[in-house]
Amino acid sequence: MSLMSPRYCEVALPVPLRSTFTYAVPEPFNGQPLVGRRVVVPFGKRAMVGIALAESDRPPDSALLKAARVKELTGVMDSLPALPPKLIELGHWISRYYIAPIGETFRSLLPPETELCEARTYTITDTGREYFRQLSKAPEIEGAESAEFVLLKHFNENDSSTSARLRRRAGAEALAEKLVRRGLLTASEVLRPRKTRTQKIVSWNAAASQPAKSETEKRIREVLTAERGPLPLHVLLEKAHVSRSIVQRLEKIGSLQTWEETITPGEDPWDTDFIPPANVLNADQKQALEDIWRWIVADKFAAALLHGVTGSGKTEVYLGAIEAALSRGKTAIVLVPEIALTLWVGRLVRARFGDRVAVLHSALPDIERAREWWRVRRGEASIVVGTRSAVFAPLENLGLIIVDEEQESAYKQEETPRYNGRDTAVYRASLEGAVALLGSATPSLETFHNARAGKYQLLQLTSRVRNRPLADVRIVDLREEFRHRQRASPISESLRAAIALRLEEKTQAMVLINRRGYSWSLLCRGCGSVVQCANCSIALTYHKSRQRLVCHYCGYSIRPPKQCPKCHGQYMYFVGDGSERVDEYLREQFPSALIARLDRDTVRTKREYQQVLGAFAKGELDVLVGTQMVAKGHDFARVTLVGVVAADLALGRPDFRAAERTFQLLTQVAGRAGRGELSGEVLVETYYPEHYAIQYAAQQDYVSFYEKEAQFRRLLHYPPFTALANVLVRDHKVENAIRWSRALADCFAPFEKQGVKILGPAAAPLARLRRDYRFQFVLKSPQRTALGKALSAALDFCAAKDIPATAVIVDVDPANLF
Ligand code: ADP
Ligand code: ZN
Repeated sequence: MSLMSPRYCEVALPVPLRSTFTYAVPEPFNGQPLVGRRVVVPFGKRAMVGIALAESDRPPDSALLKAARVKELTGVMDSLPALPPKLIELGHWISRYYIAPIGETFRSLLPPETELCEARTYTITDTGREYFRQLSKAPEIEGAESAEFVLLKHFNENDSSTSARLRRRAGAEALAEKLVRRGLLTASEVLRPRKTRTQKIVSWNAAASQPAKSETEKRIREVLTAERGPLPLHVLLEKAHVSRSIVQRLEKIGSLQTWEETITPGEDPWDTDFIPPANVLNADQKQALEDIWRWIVADKFAAALLHGVTGSGKTEVYLGAIEAALSRGKTAIVLVPEIALTLWVGRLVRARFGDRVAVLHSALPDIERAREWWRVRRGEASIVVGTRSAVFAPLENLGLIIVDEEQESAYKQEETPRYNGRDTAVYRASLEGAVALLGSATPSLETFHNARAGKYQLLQLTSRVRNRPLADVRIVDLREEFRHRQRASPISESLRAAIALRLEEKTQAMVLINRRGYSWSLLCRGCGSVVQCANCSIALTYHKSRQRLVCHYCGYSIRPPKQCPKCHGQYMYFVGDGSERVDEYLREQFPSALIARLDRDTVRTKREYQQVLGAFAKGELDVLVGTQMVAKGHDFARVTLVGVVAADLALGRPDFRAAERTFQLLTQVAGRAGRGELSGEVLVETYYPEHYAIQYAAQQDYVSFYEKEAQFRRLLHYPPFTALANVLVRDHKVENAIRWSRALADCFAPFEKQGVKILGPAAAPLARLRRDYRFQFVLKSPQRTALGKALSAALDFCAAKDIPATAVIVDVDPANLF
């Protein structure tokens, strides 16, 4: 007998459970390798797509014990396994290290579930139709034949169908394969052709503004002007609950403007007339590249920090490193902290390496992301530029992973699995024998610590290109300023004067104010309370153009009340100036200047962002005001002044990284000044001029800052000197949150003896968020394994005690503690 031995397969499913599930592999799929391929399985009453992680000849012990029947998988999706072996290993590591459910972890490694790589299309044959006719004439249909009948009926009506469609019904795909073998259906693989895809963007035409005539028009206008700015058509239709025809009518009469934007990353119109700079490398850059070449040629794992001051030309080193990897027949990943930078960096990389570059980030429509993903998987692209999740790009033969601005908290995913893209990059490099290159002007404490300890190599670019000097930084002491002037204004007199000077000189200025909105809060002079969000324990921010108080956490908004909601006092007053107010103030002060604002309220689409930055780069604007969006990455030759309003905002946060974040932000913005031929000046406004984060940022002295900050961290047992985890317990009902926190406290207690320090439970700094009451534990341990054990035990405990999985968030190496 040639019966194959039965096979079983371990499948990770996208559910918040910490185990895989075993399925039996039925006949049609037996004999095919399954590991790394997506499979369709019955789960409860539904069919679900998971990923096969392992195969075995033995049923799981649990099945033997209970003599339970192991269910069969019903479909196998990818003929080329979606995940190569190294990525499976990486997924297991993420799940272990970040204590994340395995299925949810693997879901973030997989491409979006749109079928485009290969849609298998089944078509009914004449034999099939004949067989169906016979079946339908039969007086009674039973057993296997009734399933066949249902499926053939579907084909008789539709002629053909795709595997994606069939998959929706459990078993249908496997059955279709059987019918193909019996000649009742035929099957073929169809690859969908690549099209340039565009989408229609709609904006309100401010020039043609007459008052809105109808309710629908009013709604559209509200959504487009006040709420959101220009929007893709389908989003507008959904948000404003209006029909396409109304939009068309308003477009005809000129109230709305529309244009097409491409959404195919490779065909960005921005790319076409771009000529990359041809730079001759300086000595530092050459030295760094020589080292990198050596490591890449050695074909072994190495991790290095590329520490270069702002404007020292790190990008050229990245490009050289990629070239080194490609020349050895290897592939490379470039991670950048935000989507906007994938444009900037992607463009440079594409200019050098052409079509071999793929761009991956989460804002791409699923279908585009899947297309790029499979292009990479099939080996048609050998360089991937992307945000955090691109660390999972399915490249094989990886030689290099670059992490630009490695200190950015954007590398930390704030949902399950809560991985840090930078640390994952280093681990992946170690798995693949590749080089991890972490670049920054202001490295995280962790990374610099590793470099000093010899765990990472250290490459330094000590000066700016062409020996341009770093900008002079002047600290403006707001206490002094107030003593002299006896009144507060959105920006200091010193900054106002400095901007006036730039306007006269006809150079450019940038103003950073790291809070959006008009006022930070609305305060009652009677009882002293601020107007709070209904769902979160946070003050609402006033947005003047929208005439609303808005929660920046959950989006809740109300009209500003005339009376205090608490004491009904009449004297409400706005406190704290945000970017909208600073923008308005500058326009009042400098009516003839060309001023633009860059924050999430003014730029909503890629096009707007590019327009504003493009105009500024071309010198069509005098002043650019904005949130930290203006702080990063860009190179403007004519900027001679950078002003930082309320530079100490972040210092007040209840977070051990407050000083580090302040230092980083100030150094980054300071680096925006004086990048061209003209020298630059930076004004930093603060109430704490003596704070070391501000002082060292003014001196642009990273190493001194590091030493001082490291001293505190060591004393107070914070990273990088100890491993840290945050455990948050949350629920809509405060009693539940308290009860579960108490239970967890008991569960953690024994771990104190194993070297884990447990702080809490205490109300989280953001005690209420999106209606949830939140309590938190902070766990610290010099040993990661001890910490990991405590966290795993806690999750097992929750599962055993029926504490819902969504109520407890475990965050290993948290980016912040609030
Ligand atoms: P960083 O990322 O280190 O802040 P960039 O890589 O953005 O700096 O480089 C800053 C500017 O210097 C860019 O305009 C780049 O084209 C230019 N540049 C880089 N290397 C050189 C060089 N060797 N000589 C002259 N200009 C250079
Ligand atoms: Zn809120």
